[in-house]
Formats: sequence, structure tokens, C-alpha cells
Amino acid sequence: MASSSSSSSTEHTKFSILVSLFNWISKAKTSSRKRSKFRKFIDTFCSPSDYFSAVRLILPNLDRERGTYGLKESVLAVSLIEALGMSRDSPDALKLINWRKGGANATGANAGNFSLVAAEVLQRRQGTVSGGLTIEELNGLLDKLASSENRGEKTEVLAALINKTNTQEMKWIIMIILKDLKLGMSEKSVFHEFHPDAEDLFNVTCDLKLVCEKLRDRNQRHKRQDIEVGKAVRPQLAMRVSDAHAAWKKLHGKEVVLECKFDGDRIQIHKNGADVHYFSRNFLDHSEYAHGMSDIIVQNVLDERCILDGEMLVWDTSLNRFAEFGSNQEIAKAARDGLDSDRQLCYVAFDILYVGDTSVIHQTLKERHELLRKVVKPVKGRLEILVPNGGLNAHRLLGEPHCSLIAYNVDGIEKFFKETIENRDEGIVLKDLGSKWEPSDRSGKWLKLKPEYIRAGSDLDVLIIGGYYGSGRRGGEVAQFLLGLAERPASNAYPRRFISFCRVGNGLSDEELDTVVSKLKPYLRKNEYPKNSPPSFYQVTNNSKERPDVWIENPDKSIILSITSDIRTISSEVFSAPYSLRFPRIDRVRYDKPWHECLDVQSFVELVHSSNGT
Ligand code: ATP
Repeated sequence: MASSSSSSSTEHTKFSILVSLFNWISKAKTSSRKRSKFRKFIDTFCSPSDYFSAVRLILPNLDRERGTYGLKESVLAVSLIEALGMSRDSPDALKLINWRKGGANATGANAGNFSLVAAEVLQRRQGTVSGGLTIEELNGLLDKLASSENRGEKTEVLAALINKTNTQEMKWIIMIILKDLKLGMSEKSVFHEFHPDAEDLFNVTCDLKLVCEKLRDRNQRHKRQDIEVGKAVRPQLAMRVSDAHAAWKKLHGKEVVLECKFDGDRIQIHKNGADVHYFSRNFLDHSEYAHGMSDIIVQNVLDERCILDGEMLVWDTSLNRFAEFGSNQEIAKAARDGLDSDRQLCYVAFDILYVGDTSVIHQTLKERHELLRKVVKPVKGRLEILVPNGGLNAHRLLGEPHCSLIAYNVDGIEKFFKETIENRDEGIVLKDLGSKWEPSDRSGKWLKLKPEYIRAGSDLDVLIIGGYYGSGRRGGEVAQFLLGLAERPASNAYPRRFISFCRVGNGLSDEELDTVVSKLKPYLRKNEYPKNSPPSFYQVTNNSKERPDVWIENPDKSIILSITSDIRTISSEVFSAPYSLRFPRIDRVRYDKPWHECLDVQSFVELVHSSNGT
């Protein structure tokens, strides 16, 4: 590793030293070697007062002090092209834009790894000599990058970074910006090496700065901290089980409650008087929910200080039921803009973590349910509580199953599961009523059972019309498919047009996938920037998420895949067909079925309507 700077403060520590650490850690074979390198770096190059400056660069995905950069790979590619003053049509620019494929024409050894493709491009423009950037300067520039509002400003910051670094350093900065260092060292290991209580403290505060500042002395243990109003806490999670029998076996002997698994956003509501925060699973504060929800929370959560755990959903007042997944943001915006709508945000509280001045996570779920009943006054379609024999159950429509009830045997679980699926819910969650709520725990106090693991729904035989390159191991190779439904042809004719329908990647073994891809290879036509219009046989929307990397140049050369999915469909904004599938999965390849026998749009819509009962 490079030698120490004159002082052991990150104020003066060069970023190049951290880069040496990154290189060391990513090459080290064993976890203990990775950990000891990290320890040595902290002890040698950082003073306790500024541990945070270094640790936030090592765990960038946990740092909430800076806002988001708004730079995913595709925008970062364009910003780097501008920062480097390259022409958009130059081979290197195309290489960055087409990073998944490893460049316009290249075979692409680095395909699918943005930072490596960027390093390849930077290498031709940057020297090997470090510009002497310090950790403190880097943090300052990253702050600027996050706070700048337009791409021009971001480009300026990137240009300044390029100026002060060599290619190696810039490669790691790009990984920091993308919040994934691929060090092969888990967050858990970094925390354990930093301080024995770091993980626990992070789990209950989601505050990396606070962890670095409170736990400066490794030898001094920190009293176990409980949760606090205003600080996001990592959620209790559910373990996946394959069927009702496995679930019953796992929870046997316990008192168990069965709940619907609602399909919305997991949100923790922190109420402190009139101050209300909405923390998501990755501890971002979703202030956009405030317009539609905060008045309701302030008026109907009867305790001044309280933390609720639950799911943010959308309630459709005209249909008297929850709307399908995916409209939360749109409805939050409509509430902000004061627009009239049949739809409104509705929060379903399934747990309570803090009441008055105490955390209640150590009480049993049964006790917490009682607290929920006392503290939250439900408002139909706005604020609901999920407790057995009460709460949301009372608001269900006649004929709809309960959404929370006690299980007495495996048949009860099976029946509940079947009913919720028929009611088009996402699945069920089973909870041990005697358990406490534990941050970040997935050890089996909560279990989840979802139809996607059980193979529900009918098989749909649809045609491959395009392909998407994968990343990592499958970089530069087609790893997912864009599928199309046929426009119903006149009788006795073959279909002439295909309408984009869904994107699917999983279900086949590597070998099966390779066989399909190699059969299609002679007929793949690159959908290259800037000319990316599809072959005339295909109807697609303008949504960029739907643009595949390659088209099948002629449908009569393509292959039918049999798809299974969750029994529910979702109305499609991305694809051209009116509905798409949720959780699609390739069941098998239909080499036996000719291309023109694929499902047509009309038959599919009929299928959707019959399964929705409309
Ligand atoms: P999934 O993709 O299946 O939601 P996940 O990884 O997001 O899985 P899990 O821990 O597996 O999270 O499942 C728990 C999630 O289920 C919660 O984060 C929450 O969003 C959702 N959920 C819906 N209804 C409930 C409920 N009644 N109790 C607990 N979690 C629920």
C-alpha cells in the first residue's frame, strides 16, 4: 500500500491511498485478509474524528448525508462524454452509450460493467499520474455533484474530477457514484471490523455518520440503542417458504396470524406532533407522501410520538378496493397538485414500533396489535390497521376474504392462501404472534408465501421479438427477451404484426438460454443508437425501457416461449399491449410450435377479462 501522508487525518489523506485499499480488498482471497486491510487503513490513515469521510466512500449505498446523484449509467455516459469533450458519434462515445454490449463493434471484454468500459475510454485521455486529490476534496466534489441541479453543472464537476485523477482513481469514483464497489466484502464485514456494535447501531438508526462518530473507540462497547422517532430503522423482513406445509412446520406450536401480503411500498411512518416522515425500505424519506397523508396521520394517530410500520397503497373509491401496484407516485403527485381523482393514498399499518416515549419492538406482536387498535383510529380507504378480528377486515367488501386471521392448522393456511390469490392479492405473510420486531431480521418470525413460487396462472405461448444484453457474466450476450403478441390475422393467414408485451429473463438454465440465443443469433439485428426504429413487423411504444438491444429481424425466424406468471396482469404503460405480466417466468421453449401459432392480443385480453371476472 502507498505510504502514509504526513498526518493521519483524511483531511490530508490522498484518495490514491483509498484506491490502493480498494485494489487490495478486491484482490484478496479471504474475508479475514480483506478485513485486516480495511482495519489497517482505518488505523493508519484516518483520525477518529473523520472516520465518516472514509467509510462513506467504502459503503456509498448507505450514505444518506448526500442526496442522490441522479446519475445512472446511461446519464453518466452522456455526462462523461461531455466532460471529456468527445463527439457523441465517436467510437469511444458509442462505447460508453452501448456499455452493456462493450461498444458499438467491439467484442467487449468489459461489456456489462460500466466502470470498466469507462476506464477503457478514460485511459486514452488521462495519464497514469495521480492529480493528488484528497479524500476531503473528493467528498466536497461529490457533494457538489449531488447538489447540482442540471446536467451542465454535473458535467463540470465530472470534468474537475477527471482533471484531478488518473484512470484508476476515476474508475473507483465512478463506482462510488453508482454506489456499488464490487469489493467482495459485505457491509456486515465492514461494520464488524469497524466496531463490534456498528451493525446494531446502524440497523436502528440508518445513519452512517452517527455510527462513525459514536463508535470511535473499538474497545469501548456501546450500550444497545433502541429505535427513535425520526430515525429510520431497518425493517423486519419475511423468509420465503415454498408452500403451506413448509410454513406450518416452521411455525408449528406457535400462535400464528395470517395476513394478506399487500403490494405497495413498505413505509415506516414516524410521527412527532405535526412532523411526519415516510421512510422507505432503503431509508429514504419520501416527502411526496406528505400532501396526501400527513393531515390524516396527525388527526388519527392518537399518540403524539409514534412509529407505524406498514404498506402505502392506493385506494380506488369508485371500485371500493385497492388499486393495482404501481400508481403510488402518480397519486402522490395528484394529491400535491390538488387534482380530483377516484384514487387516493391509503396506508395500511400492520405493526407499531414506538408509542409515546418508548419503543415497543420488544413486546410481542399480539401486544403490538392491541396497541395498534388503541393508537390508530382507522379512516376507511385512507388509514387502515391490519389486526385479526377487526381493522381492515371490517372494510372488506362482502364476499371478499378476510385479510388477517388466526391460523389453526395447515388447511386453514391453504384456504386463506387460495382465497387471497383468487382475490388477486400478492400472497400471504405468516407471523409468529409471540415474536418481537427485530430490525433487519429474516430468520423466520415472518414467513411469506407467494403465488409466483407456486406456479399459478395459465401458460402463455408468446413470440420472441427482441433481446436485451445482460451484465456481469452475461455481458455482451442476450440474457433477456422482449416478447410479442400477434395481431389476430384474417382466417387462414399468418400474423403480420406483433405487439410488444413483456420482458422476461428468468426460468431457463444457462444451457437452455445459450441454445435459444445461438439459434437466434443469425437473425439478430442490433438496435443501435442513434437509429433505433424496430423492424416494420413490430409495434412498440416510445418508452425507452422497452427498447431492446437487438431485434429479431423477421418473426418467421423466431421462437415461441411458454410463459407462466402470477395470475394477475398489470395494465401496461411501458409495452404496447394493453396488459403486461407481473413476475413473468419462462416455463419452457416451444421448439415444437411454429412461430405463427403464438398467442394473439385478442385472445390474451379475453383471458385477462375472464380471470378478472369482468
Ligand atoms: P417481496 O419482493 O416479496 O416484497 P421483499 O424482499 O421486498 O420481498 P420481504 O421481506 O421478502 O421483502 O417481504 C416483506 C415485504 O412484504 C415487506 O417489505 C412489505 O413491503 C410487504 N408486505 C405486504 N404486506 C405485508 C404484511 N401484511 N406484513 C408484512 N409485510 C408485508
